[in-house]
Amino acid sequence: MTTESPSTEAPSTETRPAGSAARFATAADLLEAIQPGTGGREILDPATGAVVGRAPEATPEDLESAIAAARAAQPAWGARSHAERSAALNAAADAVEANAEALAELLSREQGKPLNGPNARFEVGACVAWLRATAGFELEPEVLFDDDGGRAELHYRPLGVVGAIGPWNWPMMISVWQIAPSLRMGNTVVVKPSGNTPLSVLALVHVMNTALPADLLHVVAGRRDVGALLVEHPDIAKIMFTGSTAAGKKIIKDSADTVKRVTMELGGNDAGIVLPDVDARAIAEDLFWGAFINTGQTCAALKRLYVHEDVYDDVCAALVEVAEVMPMGVGLEEQNVLGPLQNQAQYDVVAGLVQAAKDSGARVLTGGDPDESAPGYFYPATLVADIEDGNPLVAEEQFGPALPIVKYSSVDEAVEMANGLEVGLGASVWSADREAAVEIAARIEAGTVWINKHGAVDPRMPFGGMKQSGFGLEFGVEGLKHLGAPQVINY
Ligand code: NAD
Repeated sequence: MTTESPSTEAPSTETRPAGSAARFATAADLLEAIQPGTGGREILDPATGAVVGRAPEATPEDLESAIAAARAAQPAWGARSHAERSAALNAAADAVEANAEALAELLSREQGKPLNGPNARFEVGACVAWLRATAGFELEPEVLFDDDGGRAELHYRPLGVVGAIGPWNWPMMISVWQIAPSLRMGNTVVVKPSGNTPLSVLALVHVMNTALPADLLHVVAGRRDVGALLVEHPDIAKIMFTGSTAAGKKIIKDSADTVKRVTMELGGNDAGIVLPDVDARAIAEDLFWGAFINTGQTCAALKRLYVHEDVYDDVCAALVEVAEVMPMGVGLEEQNVLGPLQNQAQYDVVAGLVQAAKDSGARVLTGGDPDESAPGYFYPATLVADIEDGNPLVAEEQFGPALPIVKYSSVDEAVEMANGLEVGLGASVWSADREAAVEIAARIEAGTVWINKHGAVDPRMPFGGMKQSGFGLEFGVEGLKHLGAPQVINY
């Protein structure tokens, strides 16, 4: 996402519809509503180490009850008209919008992302935008033919109960990406959030459920074994999965015995190709946010940058200028736009890859020197130049604030390097010549290729990966089709 995308802008309070007053003024109010009375697992703030709250630890029995309730509620929900289901989604959007500030505060404390910049407020705003957009899409039955020989129509029926499994980087927004089209198509949903960010998803679902009919939407916060049970359960018709390629492969295998439908939104290692005709300073800020959105913890972020030798030094210098003025710190402090890594494991991945790059002789232009004695998983925005294409920082998904910048001399070479990995989620081409850029885009193996921007998702544009970045599409009418069972009526 980029902040320029109008459809993902945080909504202003002026647009709040009458009658949808906030029920939760602060994150503390939300926590009171979602925490278990006793027990639970402490969730720590990645910026400070302070306790954010306690998350329930669901058992397999809790999962069974949620699936049974969702299953019981589905036929009546599936029988409602599209207009009624759209109205329910819009009501859920109003509820999220009315409680946006409390949700953003909790998200910031649990995930670490700052309130400002393309971060927590932006994410809650995107939840509202996606709910409303999904409510507005029309999926009419398609007439395949209608002639003397007869007529055939293609309809999409509800699937049943959808299991939604999501990651910790954009926990609220990605949950909405899974929930909204599922409900819109007449399914009910059981969500299994990441163990790193359960409170954000519990709070989001709690707020949505203040507006939705009862029992359509459930959340079961538990460990991976609860997720595995969801995947194997015979009463789950489809799994919407967003996470790593490794977990996706396991889920594909585990879902085989029940021949489950699956949508796989998996890891990426997006390439950006910068052509020699760019104005380095003019594109530097967009390049920076393409890579460092959510402090680099974004599936379709720019993760390896290929820059033509003619402009290599200029692009490196312009990026350093931008990176060095971006404030990083505790998310609740309004001036910050970069935050910590969400967890120790991800911090270790980023630190390890940068260290390996340094050891190989690559040149750190800025960053790369975390203050190990300070609290929180802060890793400074890091730019690494003079690095070989096969270096682990280039070839592996860093999922954090460290961008390798590789020099190239011919476009063919750049395209070959961009296509050289097993993943293909997003990519971008940067040039003053749009036609030339579009021609190069067609040669890149990625589900979305942006020109002169990176990562700008929009609810109207189908989103999904090529190669091992997954299969199945989200968003738009295409996304709705992936949450329905196609049925042909022929007479
Ligand atoms: P992860 O794969 O470790 O976990 C994702 C979710 O899957 C979590 O809820 C986890 O508990 C659950 N899970 C893991 N193994 C499971 C299993 N065997 N059965 C059932 N559930 C299981 O991913 P993460 O570390 O939370 O997220 C980061 C990864 O997600 C990155 O690779 C990133 O690129 C990817 N991602 C992809 C997209 C996309 O749209 N393609 C979006 C966001 C993140």
